[in-house]
Amino acid sequence: MNIKDSINTIKNIGEKREKLLNRLGIFTIYDLLTYYPRDYDDRSNVLNISDITEEGIYTFYAQISGTVSNLKRGFKTLTKVPLKDSTGEITALFYNQPYLKSTFLPFELYIFTGKVVFSGKKKEIQNPEYEKVTEKDIVSGGRIVPVYSLTNGVNQKFLRTLILNVLSHTENEIKEFIPKEIKENYFLCDRSFAISNIHYPKSNDDFFIARRRLVFEELLIFQTCLLGIKENIDTNLKGFVIKDFSCVKDFLKQIPFDPTNAQKRVIKEIKKDISSGKVMNRLVQGDVGSGKTFVAMLLAFVAINNGYQVSLMAPTEVLAKQHFDSFSNVFEKFGIKTALLTGSQKKKEKDEIYENIKSGFVKMVIGTHAVIQEGVKFSNLGLVITDEQHRFGVRQRLKLSEKGENPHILVMTATPIPRTLALILYGDLDISIIDELPPGRQKIDTLCVDSSYHERIYTFIKKEIDKGRQIYIVCPMVSESDKLELKSVTEYGETLKNDVFNNYNVEFVYGKMKPKEKQEVMERFSKGETHILISTTVIEVGINVPNATVMLIENAERFGLAQLHQLRGRIGRGSEKSYCILICDSKNKVAKQRMEVMKKSDDGFYISEKDLMLRGPGDFFGTKQHGLPELKIANLYKDTDILKETREAALDILNMKDTKTINAKFFDEILKYFDGNVGL
Ligand code: ADP
Ligand code: MG
Repeated sequence: MNIKDSINTIKNIGEKREKLLNRLGIFTIYDLLTYYPRDYDDRSNVLNISDITEEGIYTFYAQISGTVSNLKRGFKTLTKVPLKDSTGEITALFYNQPYLKSTFLPFELYIFTGKVVFSGKKKEIQNPEYEKVTEKDIVSGGRIVPVYSLTNGVNQKFLRTLILNVLSHTENEIKEFIPKEIKENYFLCDRSFAISNIHYPKSNDDFFIARRRLVFEELLIFQTCLLGIKENIDTNLKGFVIKDFSCVKDFLKQIPFDPTNAQKRVIKEIKKDISSGKVMNRLVQGDVGSGKTFVAMLLAFVAINNGYQVSLMAPTEVLAKQHFDSFSNVFEKFGIKTALLTGSQKKKEKDEIYENIKSGFVKMVIGTHAVIQEGVKFSNLGLVITDEQHRFGVRQRLKLSEKGENPHILVMTATPIPRTLALILYGDLDISIIDELPPGRQKIDTLCVDSSYHERIYTFIKKEIDKGRQIYIVCPMVSESDKLELKSVTEYGETLKNDVFNNYNVEFVYGKMKPKEKQEVMERFSKGETHILISTTVIEVGINVPNATVMLIENAERFGLAQLHQLRGRIGRGSEKSYCILICDSKNKVAKQRMEVMKKSDDGFYISEKDLMLRGPGDFFGTKQHGLPELKIANLYKDTDILKETREAALDILNMKDTKTINAKFFDEILKYFDGNVGL
């Protein structure tokens, strides 16, 4: 077997199974090998039947000791399978699987795992897992057994057998790529040992050894990339010196508020950067509503007054347009030409803007990805700002800065990543934090209730609208998903629109909509023409409608806490009291704890740290929109020790002489990894 081959080259994997496995993200044999278990079941303790003296879950070998009988129980069929070993007897019971009569034939040997109960003196095992004992490896018992994440149509037995089979055919295919020195210094086991033992560990110790190696490997690749990027972009690059700040006074006169102390501090940090003669690479982190845009605008103003062009890239058209409106509003007063560039503009319109950017007539360019298109040439780009960094990959950021000769870079993000992590994840950037909200903000009331409160909530919403307020309603996805009964924007939304709120203006917005449509819907909401905006999380970033006072979130347990916090940040932006209502029907303990965190705290950093703790980073960074890699096995919260070690090791690697020749294999692996994950 070649690990690069598609899974459809494996016997038994036809088109149907291939599709099912694809759903789990498994396309190649390598994907199968690195489809790590989510848990384990220790079934290494195999008992004699006579040793089972109390109820519990057990594993044992047994022979089919007689004929299998199917009994009718009302509408159900009960199948009784008599079993024995050399020490005793037991009966296996199955419900509604009459076909098992032809599966279990007398004298055959099986291994069973399941719950044993006593019926009088007789022992019974209920709906056990079973596997026929043949010369092949047994996968379901007598060992530590992997437990995989599944999808409809793929069960544990199938995956266990498949992966064990693939493991036994690929032992020599799994190549080492961590440099020998690193492996020795950090006591790492071989890669093939690790992969084999992460699925079928022979002992607890082997499991820990295997896991440590794989976590190390994953984090090492990640760290090396980040450090590599840092080396590439900030090695004392000469930057434009921007040091005339006399224009700031005029700017502040046009702004109806005074900067907060946090804003002032960050501005000072930025001033120092841009006047230093080196290129600035700074990340500004600040909770929603902390006033990052103001900082960006002031800085852009300064750069322009020093003779440079500035570009700002936002993740969505709606946001780009919003920034364009607020920037041009202020900049026009100073005669600064501002242009908006988005994907949905006509070619003719774009060409004209390109022309004006190239000639230097336009000083401020605001847009989506359109800003980094081929056609865009600047005459004197001095500063590049990206908003909501987590939506952009590192590569896009670099691409934008390539448009100028080392322009200064300012990145803004409202994703409150815990400090410790931020240092690692944004290793290539200096970080400023706006940790203070502008004064006079009303505290948002957050409540968490179950669906039975819907009627009351609808009544409350109507009252708010009658008072002149506007409402957001957020649902997790666009169309009814197969099994989960999630409130979906289109279907649930229609009921709200046509039924519950038929006397009000209700509109929808969701990700798959055309940008122009989205734009129009948002604009109508912004202007107050729409009372209720029902949406997916597309509204999560940046939208500013101060008149909106209610944020109702359905199936709140489906969202990350950081995301809920972002959504909540859409309200409480005006002078009226605002309410965030989380609907959560989950009885799950963790889900409940997470809702409690939302009720208790309005501190984005605290919330994201809790989120990380309660969910694990797999979920935290799960969505690719973060621009961060999905980690397959490492847990950034729990594996901090290894994380520290890998930082050292990554430095070692980058410092090794002849880096390219010694570590060619390692760097190959890095490229593969990042291509698949981050889109660097
Ligand atoms: P962010 O981008 O960090 O979420 P914004 O820059 O959009 O926040 O600011 C949110 C709102 O707060 C805007 O309406 C903005 O005008 C206002 N604002 C920003 N800074 C201040 C300040 N120092 N005092 C009062 N209001 C402010
Ligand atoms: Mg913003």
